[in-house]
Amino acid sequence: MNRRDFSKHILMLGIGVNAGSAKGSKGRTKNQLRNYYEEPAKKLPVREFDVAIAGAGTAGVVAALAAARRGAKTALIEAKGYPGGTVVEGGTALHSFYNLWKAFPGVKKRQVVRGIPQEIIGRLARAGGTTGHAEMSKGYDFDSVCTAIDTELYKLVTFEMLDEAGVFICVNTLLTGAIKEGSRIKGVITESRSGREAIYAKSFVDCTAYGDLSAFAGAKYTEPNDYAVCNSIGVANVSMDKYYEFLKSHDAIYQQAEGRRSGKDGQIVRLQGRTVNLPAGFRDQSRKIGMSTVTTTVHDNYFMFIKLNLRMPVSPTNRDEVAKAELELRRRQAKAIELFREYVPGCEKAFIARTSPRLNIRRGRLITCDYDIKLSDVLEGRHFDDDVMAYGFHDSAPRLQIKNGGTYGIPYRALRVAGIGNLLVAGMMITSDHDAHMSTRNTVSCMGQGQAAGTAAALCADKNCGTRELSYTHLRKTLEKDNVYFES
Ligand SMILES: Cc1cc2nc3c(=O)[nH]c(=O)nc-3n(C[C@H](O)[C@H](O)[C@H](O)COP(=O)(O)OP(=O)(O)OC[C@H]3O[C@@H](n4cnc5c(N)ncnc54)[C@H](O)[C@@H]3O)c2cc1C
Repeated sequence: MNRRDFSKHILMLGIGVNAGSAKGSKGRTKNQLRNYYEEPAKKLPVREFDVAIAGAGTAGVVAALAAARRGAKTALIEAKGYPGGTVVEGGTALHSFYNLWKAFPGVKKRQVVRGIPQEIIGRLARAGGTTGHAEMSKGYDFDSVCTAIDTELYKLVTFEMLDEAGVFICVNTLLTGAIKEGSRIKGVITESRSGREAIYAKSFVDCTAYGDLSAFAGAKYTEPNDYAVCNSIGVANVSMDKYYEFLKSHDAIYQQAEGRRSGKDGQIVRLQGRTVNLPAGFRDQSRKIGMSTVTTTVHDNYFMFIKLNLRMPVSPTNRDEVAKAELELRRRQAKAIELFREYVPGCEKAFIARTSPRLNIRRGRLITCDYDIKLSDVLEGRHFDDDVMAYGFHDSAPRLQIKNGGTYGIPYRALRVAGIGNLLVAGMMITSDHDAHMSTRNTVSCMGQGQAAGTAAALCADKNCGTRELSYTHLRKTLEKDNVYFES
């Protein structure tokens, strides 16, 4: 193998040619790649399914439920020990099941994402694991509702739902490769403590957030690296009411929502501070560690998410740069706790109750699909002749928002991976335009995309056809029957 092939191969492995040689971390062992070991060929045991879904995160859980409930024999492959993905590790609340009606006087309140995503919230509510769709009383030009969740109950409830639907759930299982046959995927390779296996299926859905399956299958992609990475923490032994008093005393309340908290309705469940009004020590230090003042909660004495952000010099598919970022983020988490203890009454004995197993990012690889949703599609509230859902939230509101508090459509073609006959994607790996992605990547959109992709994959498997041969009329009718909303 010549030098150029060597570099290319290393990039495909996501390692990076300078792996281990970067300066700056005292004591970090340098370990440059110099050589190759040729793996001997090996026979792998094969399991066969109708549909295989990679990633049991925000979109993948819904995709698997949709596929299995359509009667498809469905496998779900997840690297961690639980389902949920970024929804239980990333941000503040689920955005948004509704249109932005409050910011547009006279516009009707409408729930625009229903179906399986709403069913999950209903189950979670019965388990005491959500604020419900809590209405914003301040900052409602950003969103009209805020749906906060108990992250641990979300993992349990979705796990149970997958089990009840008969999904073959492979947790603690890493998807490590794709087996191609022409322009179709024949199977995927997985690794777990039970060993390496091949999973064959008729249709595949990539919900890995980073597009691992698509990349392994040779799909085209880009990596813009245009966001900070983040490891959010859950902070316990705090007081939501006292945090409210703290922000109020500095005239710093920017966002607020009321909902169900510790079993009581009408409680404050979301707060965001105007950092500029806060005491200089807190303000300056929190900026330094990339800490956001926004939090939500389902419990009186718990902040479900405090976000610590960090800009990485390269895309987080680079393992060795990620190692440095993981360490720095944990330093920032510790510093965040010190700040809360020092400055915020009621938080003197705060501690970290949850961290994410690994850093998160708002987008890693972006997979090239048959259509790339544009910002104008979102802002103009455009609908397509192959819509698979409607969506009505934009993360940059009020700067960017959908015309007249309406909705836009996500077309089926935006979920079909270009050049591959039986692969769909759902989640944060679609939409290359940064500002359009600020809408499509939100949790509730990813969940809706999951229902669409899982349903389509099951129908394709049933008809033994590729994703481009599927009858849209059939797909649309099925989604409507399953309570998906389409109105503009
Ligand atoms: C810091 C942060 C804050 C955010 N805040 C908000 C917010 O407040 N509100 C909001 O609506 N949205 C928010 N978002 C956006 C939203 O959370 C994400 O865009 C969305 O959850 C992504 O869903 P997904 O299904 O694409 O990926 P994920 O939910 O990340 O799911 C991907 C899953 O695939 C698994 N996986 C990956 N690779 C493999 C592999 N090779 N083998 C097996 N399994 C694999 C992962 O373990 C994971 O479970 C935030 C995002 C971040 C990062």
